[in-house]
Amino acid sequence: MIVFEHVSKVYPGGNTALRDVNLHISKGEFVFVLGRSGAGKSTFLKLILREEKATSGRIFIDGKELGRLKEREVPYLRRNMGVVFQDFRLIPSLTAYENVAFAMRVTDIPERKIASRVPYVFNLVGLSDKMDKFPDELSGGEQQRVALARALVHSPQLIIADEPTGNIDPELSMEMMELLAAINSVGITVVVVTHEHDLVRRFNKRVITIDDGTVVDDCAGIGEVLL
Ligand code: ADP
Repeated sequence: MIVFEHVSKVYPGGNTALRDVNLHISKGEFVFVLGRSGAGKSTFLKLILREEKATSGRIFIDGKELGRLKEREVPYLRRNMGVVFQDFRLIPSLTAYENVAFAMRVTDIPERKIASRVPYVFNLVGLSDKMDKFPDELSGGEQQRVALARALVHSPQLIIADEPTGNIDPELSMEMMELLAAINSVGITVVVVTHEHDLVRRFNKRVITIDDGTVVDDCAGIGEVLL
């Protein structure tokens, strides 16, 4: 699903964010990408989303090489991935329902389909009773679940959560991780980017550790097999 072959990223000005990264994340995996601040985690995400291009090496998503993707193909790439950003990125003037519906409207989906899909994804994240609230009427954990509902709306094969515990308390972050595990159990690949060792320790999953732009460790959870 995600393949990095000798990927390096040097920003203009000479900052090397990633160097010679090689990794393979299979369809249906649940993976943590762990690294302290400045390690290169955001750069890893931006490369996958094609917000940045690799300086050298090749990145494949579902067999498609991102370096060869035409600009007009980029929105289709992104539609197959759902991202839950650390700061949730909800529109404050829209209700939770409208925030999720908006993500569908920008892609010309018929209103009738939106009207059935949006309540369905709210049900998946356990927030059916809060669809009509505005973001500032929701707790941090609830806002994050709206962001997850929005990420799920196009039935993506891949969900990426960027620092999912950053803006919520520890109890809620466990709930969020359990939701992500449930999503993974139906075959959706989940990549969780974090700097929190504690979080990673509590879950028995594969952990790819990045430090100073390099993959320094890649361990399967106990009982898991790395292919
Ligand atoms: P993390 O998300 O793990 O904190 P980043 O990917 O943001 O790490 O950053 C990795 C390195 O790349 C850091 O040294 C950072 O200063 C540098 N960097 C990130 N973005 C840019 C940019 N747009 N321009 C120049 N340097 C950058």
